[in-house]
Amino acid sequence: MYTNNCVINSVCSNLCFRTSIYVQKRWKSKKVHWSVLAKKIYPVDKALEHFDDFYKTVFGRRWPSIRLALLSPHKYCAVINNFGDSDMAVSDLQNIGAMSMRRLFELEKETIKQQKQEDRRKKDLEKIFKLDRKLEQMMVAKQQKELESLYPHREKSESACVPADILTLNKSSSDTSHGSSVNMNRKDHAEECGDALIEKSLHSSLRDADFDTQRLIDPASGLSAAALYEYVPATRLKGMEDWIVESQHYRYYKKNTDFPVHIESDHDFIFPDHLQVLTFERGNVSSFPAPKRGSTGVLNYYLLDGGSLLPVLALGVNPGDRVLDMCAAPGGKSLLMLQTLFPALLVCNDVQESRTNRIHAVIKQYLYSMDKWKNRLIVTQRDGRDIDEYNIYNKILVDVPCTIDRHSLHENENNIFKPTRVKERLKIPEIQAELLGHALKLVQPGGTVVYSTCSLSPIQNDGVVHMALRKVWEETDIQVVVKDMTAALEPVNCMYKLGQDLGLKYGHLVLPFIPCNFGPMYFCKLVRRK
Ligand code: SAM
Repeated sequence: MYTNNCVINSVCSNLCFRTSIYVQKRWKSKKVHWSVLAKKIYPVDKALEHFDDFYKTVFGRRWPSIRLALLSPHKYCAVINNFGDSDMAVSDLQNIGAMSMRRLFELEKETIKQQKQEDRRKKDLEKIFKLDRKLEQMMVAKQQKELESLYPHREKSESACVPADILTLNKSSSDTSHGSSVNMNRKDHAEECGDALIEKSLHSSLRDADFDTQRLIDPASGLSAAALYEYVPATRLKGMEDWIVESQHYRYYKKNTDFPVHIESDHDFIFPDHLQVLTFERGNVSSFPAPKRGSTGVLNYYLLDGGSLLPVLALGVNPGDRVLDMCAAPGGKSLLMLQTLFPALLVCNDVQESRTNRIHAVIKQYLYSMDKWKNRLIVTQRDGRDIDEYNIYNKILVDVPCTIDRHSLHENENNIFKPTRVKERLKIPEIQAELLGHALKLVQPGGTVVYSTCSLSPIQNDGVVHMALRKVWEETDIQVVVKDMTAALEPVNCMYKLGQDLGLKYGHLVLPFIPCNFGPMYFCKLVRRK
């Protein structure tokens, strides 16, 4: 009996145990059931919700296309490592269809040049034809008058005697290529009529001509080209009332300039000779294989977002430059600058130890014989705002921490849209403006600063540039010029989708776009005058 009871007890307890395990298991599995998971809001969802609300108002009908590109796999370019087997790497990548970005830009530059020459020629021809037509019309009118005075008895309805020019010109006044047929018809017709048309000389016709004053712009009306330019609206923003939580952001975005801002057109956009960057042409969505180690033991190329190339090219590193990469980790843009072989000094700085370790790792993977780089390549760990080496650097890249829009839509870990990071997120524009303002103070007079983000936010982009410029203007007598690179960037349009018509005030923006899915990347070039 005892034994039986024991058995029964043990079976019962076993059963209970099993049941409890079973129940527990069911309970556990219920927690991670797909329907529960489906309802959970992750930081990536928060990010998308935020972007949908905010960017829809900024980019309007363009937002769906940008959104689709942001959510799709993005496009890379391969930066050939000059310290590895570079020739082999280039031919391997060309064999899979990749193309040199420098070559593509050069070809596009040549095409644009030819197109501009052709447009100019067409415009000149158009002017000549217009003048020609006007003169002809004047002559015809004169001839008509004279005919009427010579033959007052003739009926107007006798169309056979109406000079042919009028008839032909009325028919084809917009077609300049008809100039010769106009002359032919007039000749034939004149012969037919047998009228001796007396053509007045060109000079006398011009002397008697009336000018169409209605087509001139009266300067007193104030409608200058500059006024029309000013009329182009700046990037639109959602009204503050809808963004109470994020209202702080808007402190950094003011459309009106309450201090003098100098903007100059910049045509400099040089692709350094030693820099070799390959990518797939527009519309080709192939991807690169992972880089391999070559005979020198270092990796043969570095993959980075094509958008990252533009801020580095905008900085325009030249031989002998002393460069500071203020927020450098993991080191992609620093590596690009190194591959130009130009800098006499490159300081790669980041605020976090874990991040500076990533810079060291990249250097180890891509450079051999570190002795060569001693005193030329330095990694430092400081808050960019505390760097106190004034007048040392003539080029500074300020690639600031931002909402890293594309990353925020794909990675939950360390996502800036985590509810616990709201305050940090709201402080981003303030830190960005401080970093940029400090870089403008650090850089040598005559030196260049490029500010960049990988965000689409007008607040973190033009808004921060505006804020930093104002701060520098208020606190110092430093003079800064903003470089408008629109003309210089014309050739890159073949590979990038640039938001040139978005009314950006200071910088340029690479928009994610499926056929060339780079970016987002905003960059603004600033030169310190004194
Ligand atoms: N330029 C890098 C590249 O191309 O690989 C990417 C830079 S990432 C967008 C921004 C970096 O800024 C982060 O590594 C972050 O640790 C660093 N950072 C954040 N606050 C900083 C500060 N106050 N001073 C310097 N670096 C900072």
